[in-house]
Amino acid sequence: MDFDLSPEHRIFQKAIRDFAEKEISPLVERAEEEERFPLELFPKMGQLGYLGIRYSEIYGGSGADKIAECIWAEELFRICRGIATSLFAHCHLGTFPIFAFGTEEQKARFLHPAIRGEKIAAFALTEPNAGSDVQAIESRAVKVGQSYLLRGSKMFVTNGTIADFVLVAAYTDRSKGLEGISLFVVEKGAGGFHVSRKLKKEGSRSSETAQLSFEDCLISEENLIGAREGAFRNIFKTLVEGRVVIAAGATGVARAAFEAALQYAKERIAFGRPIGNFQAIGFKLADMATWIEISRTMIYRVAWMVDQKRACTSEASMAKLFATEMAENVTSEAMQIFGGYSQMREFPVGRYWRDARQLKIGEGTSEIQRRIICHQMGLKTD
Ligand SMILES: Cc1cc2nc3c(=O)[nH]c(=O)nc-3n(C[C@H](O)[C@H](O)[C@H](O)COP(=O)(O)OP(=O)(O)OC[C@H]3O[C@@H](n4cnc5c(N)ncnc54)[C@H](O)[C@@H]3O)c2cc1C
Repeated sequence: MDFDLSPEHRIFQKAIRDFAEKEISPLVERAEEEERFPLELFPKMGQLGYLGIRYSEIYGGSGADKIAECIWAEELFRICRGIATSLFAHCHLGTFPIFAFGTEEQKARFLHPAIRGEKIAAFALTEPNAGSDVQAIESRAVKVGQSYLLRGSKMFVTNGTIADFVLVAAYTDRSKGLEGISLFVVEKGAGGFHVSRKLKKEGSRSSETAQLSFEDCLISEENLIGAREGAFRNIFKTLVEGRVVIAAGATGVARAAFEAALQYAKERIAFGRPIGNFQAIGFKLADMATWIEISRTMIYRVAWMVDQKRACTSEASMAKLFATEMAENVTSEAMQIFGGYSQMREFPVGRYWRDARQLKIGEGTSEIQRRIICHQMGLKTD
């Protein structure tokens, strides 16, 4: 058993950390304030190969492993959860199904330009009346000749306002239940496809989120992912692998809050000494460091399982559950350490806390992760 990162992982960790600190950090304040994603990052990151970490070289990716993708997420989320969320929606949710299940023609049309940062991707599963309960989605795609007619509405779509293409889940055969859900690529400008509204959020403000509508939107059958109806298993695999990345991102947010709190605890003087020297504060920081360490160790193990092609549905849910709840606790403790200054927007701890809170909801809520873990143990908890 080897717990060391490989030399390649370490080089990559330093490179992506430097990039995030030098190129993303200066953009954060404005992006959060204006609630707008800094679009210049897509071509810049595309040129550096940061948008296709796990995708094969033949598609323009780096061909790295899942551990590298977790390093990528931890470093980006550490700097800004909002910006990193948009990048995650692009680099994983909106492109993984094309990479893993799409036709070669779909990879050429959508995956290549996405990896280069020339096209922005989004993924639309959630609807106004269906989030956790995927089977309850109402979107329908009816075959008409060589095309499909799509009707429906999608909610909380990350990158919805800026995407060049959106992967949309819709029923092609309602009678088959989940197995009757298919996945389509809908391109910006397609007739009947509209951004209904941009949503204002509590956390993750620099990531743009939208409600989308599809009114008799005509999609060529060439845009049916994998040229096959019935994509639920593909969506499920995309979500399971995505949970590992979100867990790594949550660890990054927690680390940002911990690092800020540790520095503050060494500098802030009360009763004649740095507050970190009070056991009550020092022990909080010791706990925070411990939780982050547990989280990262667990995530690397699940990432390793993904790389070994082992089933890890339960472990991915455990990692997402633990890391996101840990991030909420760590960011909350960081707020406490910052005292009154935690409420001042000139300090970023308030942002870390708002951003961490939402991590327990997106990519499957904590309740849904516990439900999955129970099901994997053979318990019918519903
Ligand atoms: C900022 C943000 C970005 C997002 N980006 C995307 C995106 O890009 N694409 C996309 O498709 N979706 C996206 N989502 C949607 C996200 O995945 C859903 O919000 C999430 O799955 C929960 O669905 P819901 O909000 O409809 O809550 P609901 O499913 O209505 O759940 C409400 C509450 O009930 C609980 N609950 C529901 N069912 C059960 C059950 N069986 N047992 C116990 N408790 C239960 C939930 O845990 C939750 O606490 C995003 C959400 C947010 C907030």
